[in-house]
Amino acid sequence: MLAGLLVFAQIVLPAAAQTALPALGDGAEMSTSSERQLGDRIARELYRDPDYLDDPILGDYVQAIWLRLMASARQRGELSPELQERFAWEVVIGRDRSVNAFALPGGYMGVHLGLIAVVSNEDELASVLAHELSHVTQRHIVRIISRQGQQAPWLIGAMILGALAAASNPGAAGAMIVGGQAAAVQGQLNFSRDMEREADRVGYGVMTQAGFDARGFVGMFEKLQQANRFNDTSAFPYLRSHPLTTERIADMQSRQQLQPRSATPIALTMTHAMLAGRARALANPEVDSLRAALLQAQGQDTAALPPARRAGLYYAAVQAAMGLREFEQAQQWLGRLQNLATDHPQAHFQAKLLGAELALARGEPARALALLEGVAPGIAGSGRALLFLRARAWTQAGQSREAAEQLQVWLASRPRDALGWQLLSTAYTAQGQTLRAVRAEAEVHVARLDYAAARDRLRAAQELLRTGGAVDHIEASIIDTRSRQVELLLREQALER
Ligand SMILES: [Zn+2]
Repeated sequence: MLAGLLVFAQIVLPAAAQTALPALGDGAEMSTSSERQLGDRIARELYRDPDYLDDPILGDYVQAIWLRLMASARQRGELSPELQERFAWEVVIGRDRSVNAFALPGGYMGVHLGLIAVVSNEDELASVLAHELSHVTQRHIVRIISRQGQQAPWLIGAMILGALAAASNPGAAGAMIVGGQAAAVQGQLNFSRDMEREADRVGYGVMTQAGFDARGFVGMFEKLQQANRFNDTSAFPYLRSHPLTTERIADMQSRQQLQPRSATPIALTMTHAMLAGRARALANPEVDSLRAALLQAQGQDTAALPPARRAGLYYAAVQAAMGLREFEQAQQWLGRLQNLATDHPQAHFQAKLLGAELALARGEPARALALLEGVAPGIAGSGRALLFLRARAWTQAGQSREAAEQLQVWLASRPRDALGWQLLSTAYTAQGQTLRAVRAEAEVHVARLDYAAARDRLRAAQELLRTGGAVDHIEASIIDTRSRQVELLLREQALER
């Protein structure tokens, strides 16, 4: 992830050392709104990165865990109403096979596909997210930022982006950032040992109160310890930013003793196995990897595997065959997956979503809609993946009016959903509603905090209004209002520097 940002960091860092910069504040702790601004600045760059991935299916899965953790943090008094209100609380997924998760200023959280693929259950994933969430709620981030003294927020943003890029891709970072600057930057931005222990302690409480299995915390620690033993920090950049100190391990062991001992590991659920398979497939899209995933599913010993494990292999095989555009083969693997998942409502739901994706890839939207017919959105997370698949199918099937109506309802309460706006724009285009399509494109950019690009699209919309035939008065007035708001946002952004 973030390879593109290396260049950004390289340009910014050396110049910064020579320039006198406006101060962040009066040297006191950064306010929550300044921290949010800094987070937005970083998020804007992340959204632009080619490895940024908005996958609604994995997004729903991670989001459901995230919301449970936030509710628990609130109940425990770790998350104040002010922080909840001011911060973004958004999980950003990166298409990177390394194992990493990181908390950013302003309530943004980064998760690599490699982490979702490597954890054995949702409880292990929850343990990492709870730890990172606690870095935010305990205000650790603002404390490290304050250590940077009187530096401009844009510089700190660039340092954080540079450190992220270095963590993700140590070889390239060494080559591109001269004189070991990457290591120095990362050293400055690391959490202290005490902060790590506190995030473990608070995170453990948050995750167990949210109803996740404490063994998930232990399991994740064991994975990290194993990687640590093999010094596998290029696959586990998480270990570099969160070193396993003897104190952390000792804390972990004493916490374990408080729990009633349980020799049985957490059973692998079919849903988790499938979604971990999805993460693996999305992180490894090369033809060779797709072929390997198919071979693995075809392996002779798969019949002996537990059903959940087989479901994970079959799911990855459907995706691999789809990626190779071998649709008949994908359909066969999907059939096997559906048979396995019959008695597991969650897994069955996921198999249907995957089936709808396959149908759309084959250009058969009616088949996708039939598969999704009567499926309850409440079964997994927010139902965003289900809605978006339906919207794509409606648009492909010539029912773009239905797609636009449902998307508008969704976006009315979630105006920051860029992918939702993107799908709405496509639906409008299919209806020949060019003006509305262009305005929806502008909203995609606003949602990704790229106000300059949004202004360009809004100007294009105004141009259409001047030259176009049919007049859409409602849309014209929306475009007018939004143009003024975006101008204001641009001016605020210029002042932040
Ligand atoms: Zn940490």
